[in-house]
Amino acid sequence: MSSPNAESTAFRSALEVIRAVEPRVADAIGAELADQRESLKLIASENYASPATLLAMGNWFSDKYAEGTVGRRFYAGCQNVDTVEALAAEHARELFGASHAYVQPHSGIDANLVAFWAILADRVESPALKRAQVRQVNDLTEEDWFALRRELGDQRMLGMSLDAGGHLTHGFRPNISGKMFDQRSYGTDPATGLIDYDRVAEAAREFRPLILVAGYSAYPRKVNFRIMREIADSVGATFMVDMAHFAGLVAGKVFTGDFDPVPHAHIVTTTTHKSLRGPRGGMVLCGPELADQVDRGCPMVLGGPLPHVMAAKAVALAEARRPDFADYAQRIVDNAQALAEGLLRRGATLVTGGTDNHLVLIDVSGYGLTGRQAEQALLDSGIVTNRNAVPQDPNGAWYTSGIRIGTPALTTRGLGTAEMDATAELIHTVLSQTTPGSNADGTPSKAKYVLDPALADKVSRQATDLLSTHPLYPSVTLA
Ligand code: PLP
Repeated sequence: MSSPNAESTAFRSALEVIRAVEPRVADAIGAELADQRESLKLIASENYASPATLLAMGNWFSDKYAEGTVGRRFYAGCQNVDTVEALAAEHARELFGASHAYVQPHSGIDANLVAFWAILADRVESPALKRAQVRQVNDLTEEDWFALRRELGDQRMLGMSLDAGGHLTHGFRPNISGKMFDQRSYGTDPATGLIDYDRVAEAAREFRPLILVAGYSAYPRKVNFRIMREIADSVGATFMVDMAHFAGLVAGKVFTGDFDPVPHAHIVTTTTHKSLRGPRGGMVLCGPELADQVDRGCPMVLGGPLPHVMAAKAVALAEARRPDFADYAQRIVDNAQALAEGLLRRGATLVTGGTDNHLVLIDVSGYGLTGRQAEQALLDSGIVTNRNAVPQDPNGAWYTSGIRIGTPALTTRGLGTAEMDATAELIHTVLSQTTPGSNADGTPSKAKYVLDPALADKVSRQATDLLSTHPLYPSVTLA
């Protein structure tokens, strides 16, 4: 471990250098640290990367173009980029037990695009090239090229519905994936809120998708990937898992066996910045069958890789391979369960009645609120969350009826189960004392709410007290 002194010196020096050019940027960076230190962050998709990870991103790698793959670049002088990309991929393979890792995607959406196009290339483009007896698309006749483009655009995907917790990038119309694929979704059982695997199998039999996608951004339970793979196999679909949210729980061996996607899926995508606690970015894992297609991510859907971010991925993945990361991952789940129990005990309604992972979904209609009202009232009280649809949400995706909360960030700060119970008390206090507001014409509003500012202040102070015993980046002092 580096000394706290070294970390403070590094960040202070960086800010001094930035301040000399544009002081407002230096001030904003300092203010962001101050804000993060003060807020009770319960956003399930956010975390706090280590000083080493953060520092690995601010350097000369940012200047380098390195299209291609390790040892096979379209630019000269990539030997140092090769070093960090190879290291990041090696750490990823070892950490997740995958035979191939592609660490270039700039984000989760990019990782998913790489995976979709690797599958399309393997299942649609390659057979078309074979049929036409040519090696590459440039050799196709105009007629065959036209036919292939039509065929690529006429494929099916089955993914989890948005209101059940799926993600926009799994074939929904506002996202490019929904424009690329004919998408159908599977939901959850209305009675239990859980995935009904028989219904998924039925939907797969009826729809015959090319790709079956599992993974979520707001489902508070484990998914049985062995069963999902069996369903995919039964209809000849490629099974893809987007583990963006729970990659840290896979890395920390909290999700093993049927609940570890890597041995079961043909291809796995992830972000690196959520529960995995790395830099903002994405990654794809797969077996040898799809490796070559995945490695064509650049130039297929990506431009030049971000070598400074790949360097930071290598650092964060090295951290995740340390034994203490498994302890961290287990504490994330222990904390989420303590938070869920604390909320349930105080009368909150939770989707699925609890959690197996890092997130909890509160159905705030139980408090007579929309998600938007609840989110704002909590924010006024120093608690940062985000609103989220619940299954069959009557308030739609904008106002919603849910609040999604997650524990990766607070767990990184060192908060434990006792503090989670105190957090549940703060959340319940705010939600139970907030009432829906009305519009100027007296009709009920889905956005306005009434909360006594004195109560919001009091809760804010209690949240600050809770955080004060677990300072964020204790090793870093900027003043
Ligand atoms: N996939 C899932 C399941 C996600 O939750 C997210 C982000 O919220 C993404 C993909 C997209 O990640 P990014 O924001 O890095 O593009």
